Amino acid sequence: MPLSVHRERCIGSGTCVYTAPEVFAQDEDEGLVVLLTDGTDQANERAVRSAVERCPVAAISLDAP
Ligand code: SF4
Repeated sequence: MPLSVHRERCIGSGTCVYTAPEVFAQDEDEGLVVLLTDGTDQANERAVRSAVERCPVAAISLDAP
């Protein structure tokens, strides 16, 4: 499933990294979200959906195929 992040909205809370560390990281300079993959698979979809719901500024989008 396609996944995208909106770094201009990210406030660097780190919630997504904590929730789905295989998919999200934070850059060292600003602490803003970085995608480690451009999509999800069944193995990490639940964690990614949780990260989407938990992001405080709606900076993660999980788009239907
Ligand atoms: S949860 Fe949202 S605000 Fe926090 S680091 Fe991830 S994308 Fe940024």
